[in-house]
Amino acid sequence: MLEKVDIEAPFRVTDLKQWVYCPRILYYAVCLPNVRPVTYKMQAGVEAGRDEEGKEARRGLRAYGLEEGQRKFNVSLVSDRLGLRGLVDMVIWLEDKGEVIPVDYKLSDRIGAAQIAGIHFKLQLAAYGLMLEEVSGLAARRGFLYSIPRRKAEEVPLDKRMRDRLAATLDAMHRMLRYETMPEPTPQRAKCVACEFRRFCNDVF
Ligand code: SF4
Repeated sequence: MLEKVDIEAPFRVTDLKQWVYCPRILYYAVCLPNVRPVTYKMQAGVEAGRDEEGKEARRGLRAYGLEEGQRKFNVSLVSDRLGLRGLVDMVIWLEDKGEVIPVDYKLSDRIGAAQIAGIHFKLQLAAYGLMLEEVSGLAARRGFLYSIPRRKAEEVPLDKRMRDRLAATLDAMHRMLRYETMPEPTPQRAKCVACEFRRFCNDVF
């Protein structure tokens, strides 16, 4: 059971990625709202996703190894239980199999390559899967990360290990918000060099 603050869905699914990168960035973003600029990378991701939606509508489901399924794009999700909100790029509904599949488009070229996708992407996908289970009553046994540059999909099992990892991550995020405790800085200090919140982290240099 998550220790949540009394705010409806305080976190976005994309905050999971931020937390994995450096928990302190999320702390600053939550405690100092409106200081964060929309970076080029964020904007580019939104626009590439929109463009991909048009192409995806013309493509079949071959990239996912599926012959049939009903697709819906830009599905908005809110879960009070998880304290999360988000917009998943595409959902494949296989109602006859009792399955629902989230698909997240990414600009990364690591997806579908020899190097498998990072945990930050997988946690987001798992979050979409759990939220879809909640609204549909269907099982989210897997999801897909679709690399826009590589035009390849990587299947990600939404198994117990992934669900436990998501639960632990969400628990830590909600505790941070509830008790307003500043997390430790990232041990990977190279990340701090170009960090937009560097001026607030006097203890890292
Ligand atoms: S400066 Fe480093 S520790 Fe501080 S928020 Fe940025 S990445 Fe995290």
